Amino acid sequence: MTEAGFPQAARRFESVGFSEIVKVRNRVLELLAAGHKVWRFEGGEPYMPTPQPIKDAMTEALAKNETRYAPSSGVPELRRAIVEKVRAKNGIPADDESPIVVNGGMHGLFSAFATLLDPGDEVLMFSPYWTPITDVIAYHGAVPVLVPTQQARQNGFTVALAKHRTPKTRLLYWNSPTNPTGDVFSRAECEEICAFVRDQGLALISDEAYEDLIYEGEKHVSPASFPGMFERTITVFTLSKTYSMTGWRAGYVLVPKRWRLPMQTVVLYSINGVSTPTQWAALAALKLPDDFLVEARAGYRRRRDALVAGLRAAGFQIETPRAALYLFPKVSSVLGPNSAAAAQHLLSTARVATVPGVVFGPEGEGHLRFSFSVSEETIRGGIEALKTLSTATV
Ligand code: PMP
Repeated sequence: MTEAGFPQAARRFESVGFSEIVKVRNRVLELLAAGHKVWRFEGGEPYMPTPQPIKDAMTEALAKNETRYAPSSGVPELRRAIVEKVRAKNGIPADDESPIVVNGGMHGLFSAFATLLDPGDEVLMFSPYWTPITDVIAYHGAVPVLVPTQQARQNGFTVALAKHRTPKTRLLYWNSPTNPTGDVFSRAECEEICAFVRDQGLALISDEAYEDLIYEGEKHVSPASFPGMFERTITVFTLSKTYSMTGWRAGYVLVPKRWRLPMQTVVLYSINGVSTPTQWAALAALKLPDDFLVEARAGYRRRRDALVAGLRAAGFQIETPRAALYLFPKVSSVLGPNSAAAAQHLLSTARVATVPGVVFGPEGEGHLRFSFSVSEETIRGGIEALKTLSTATV
């Protein structure tokens, strides 16, 4: 409603939604505040706390008074460590000036879209997709064009992408491993998609938030490691999931020279750099030995397998995903195909909180997203609650 005597918010917000996942979380918080027990599967957070050496590095940075402005693209020691990491681990041919430290993956993505999009541009993206992306694209006056993943897999990626490409297409947003499905695109699929992007003269924004959370099969692939791709790709990484650092807000992007100055400008004028002590903690994270990750992955895999088995026992149809933190089962037949109604019903009757699949695009309808990055007690309790529900309603 317009209030007389006050300007309205900018018109762009007429086409930008506010995260549906946050709305689910708010309903859960209301139930908790009213004293109810809720089995919470709606989140997207690592189950363990931030490793101690990272916390120690923050304390040390504070003790050394590393509390002043840092260069807005990041402290040189951290940027050097990022270059070493992406060259060695991801095969990305980054140079010293490629990395920019950002305020988590969300800010990296926002800045990448801001760097590349003009109003009216179209962005190809596979669906289901991580909910905020279409809103961020709309924020920039551009248009998300959804390519159903399943269909593309059946008919061939080049054919599917060509069908949706128009003269307005500027770039492709790519997320593997994928939120919400836990799907990993194969190396061959990635090669085919990159060939399309290259042949069509497009840009690629590669969201690799879950690069370290792959539990079996083919390893993670970074598109920017393929010939001719680094020059047209902005790769977005975050420390949130790998290092249990969701609340620290730390991530980094790798930007080719042609887009570096615009992207540095976006970062300068949006945040003027990530908090300096956080950057020293991020450096400690990148230097952690790999056994930390081996242990974390074992914990995730155990939880994933327990929740898959439990959901099957409670009547859900589900394939085991290879990666990320989520299960994306079909809504069980007793609940019906409308995912929003099913999620609401599960919350109000069994006190099981999930995210309705429809918020991840039309291709997510008929599914629910469960995070398996929860305590083993939540898995046991949630499954028991779901089982009672299915026997009670049948
Ligand atoms: N990309 C994807 C696919 C995600 O799921 C998330 C977090 N849920 C992010 C990026 C951003 O994470 P953050 O802002 O915490 O780094």
